[in-house]
Amino acid sequence: LTGAGPTDLRKHYRTVKTVLRRRDLCDPYFVGKFAFSPYHACAHGCLYCDGRAERYFVEGEFDHDIVIRSNAPALLDLELGKQRERGIVFIGSGVSDSYQPPEREEELMRSCARVLGEHSMAASVLTKSGLVLRDLDLWEEVNRRAGFLLMMSIQTLDESIRRMFEPACSPIEERLSVLAAFKARGCTVGVAAMPFLPYISDSDADLNALAERLAAAGVDFALFGGLTLRPGCQKDFFLRGLSASFPDLVERYGALYGENRPSGAPLVSYSRDLNRRAAAAFHRVSLPTLVPHRIYRDRLPLYDEIYVLLQQMSVLYTGRTREVERLNASLACYRAWLLERKKIFNRRRKQRSIDLEYALIDLARSQDWPRFLGNEKLAAFLREVVIDRRVFDPLTLRLV
Ligand code: SF4
Repeated sequence: LTGAGPTDLRKHYRTVKTVLRRRDLCDPYFVGKFAFSPYHACAHGCLYCDGRAERYFVEGEFDHDIVIRSNAPALLDLELGKQRERGIVFIGSGVSDSYQPPEREEELMRSCARVLGEHSMAASVLTKSGLVLRDLDLWEEVNRRAGFLLMMSIQTLDESIRRMFEPACSPIEERLSVLAAFKARGCTVGVAAMPFLPYISDSDADLNALAERLAAAGVDFALFGGLTLRPGCQKDFFLRGLSASFPDLVERYGALYGENRPSGAPLVSYSRDLNRRAAAAFHRVSLPTLVPHRIYRDRLPLYDEIYVLLQQMSVLYTGRTREVERLNASLACYRAWLLERKKIFNRRRKQRSIDLEYALIDLARSQDWPRFLGNEKLAAFLREVVIDRRVFDPLTLRLV
């Protein structure tokens, strides 16, 4: 059975007080406005998992002691009913995979998918498990009502590397076929190509082969990222595993992660080089390296959509070595305006999300708009997005 997890798993059933997290500012990376997870800790047991770091306060053995939030579906129903804003519910975290082995019997995600469909809330799932295919019927319904996005995490095409570093996750081919099945049923599919492992899965040949395979599979985008090793449990555990499989690399990893930054980031020079090479590999096959605007534009309130778009433009333009100082200054103005508006929105329970959307439309139509952003060209560009509903293409950096 693929993705079965350890046989001596210990399940800890908990009743939690709250399950849904809401962000005032939408996450521009996974484009989640809400998030939840029915589990804490992860039986997939990836060697590199960030969830082993002390900051996440996982009790017991990370891949054996799994907390099961048994009232997650009921609470989700309750908490979604209280929301005054629409948005994408992101289900995935660095500390647990929602389709990890216990889900096979618990079926919490199946119940949660049903709840999301009933509330017509858009959702995205990030997983390394083919088990998500079991719930295709329910996610298809969520997609029909509000939008659904499936993201698989795939950092290598080499099955022997996968077995070493992601022992209880589904094989790569299975993940790709699950993506194809969701795509065939009209869902958006993406890949989180991370974490590339230094000297193991990060060569130009590895990156190009993965990019070509994903493009051929028809995925809509691929996010990418390198390995972080936070000092303490996560780093120690990973290095023990590495020395068993790749003893020759331990010294090189020691040099790369020797600064022991709290974030776990490697040397800046390595990250820069990896980011440049990965971006080039995906660009070569015309795969966007962020969630494209066309995917989230109708699934977020307009004011969140513009915030995400500005953040993404800043990242993309920086990657193409364009000048971003003025863009970032405009982004800061917009962010401050949005936060202020959200503060009022949160206080006044009778205010509706649509009122805030109209406030943005009025601002974008007004003569003040260019002065407000401090950038005439950007103001004209955003007017076309806000008023004419044009779409930003992350490959050409143009509106279509
Ligand atoms: S699937 Fe994700 S959360 Fe689970 S162990 Fe692997 S990296 Fe960690």
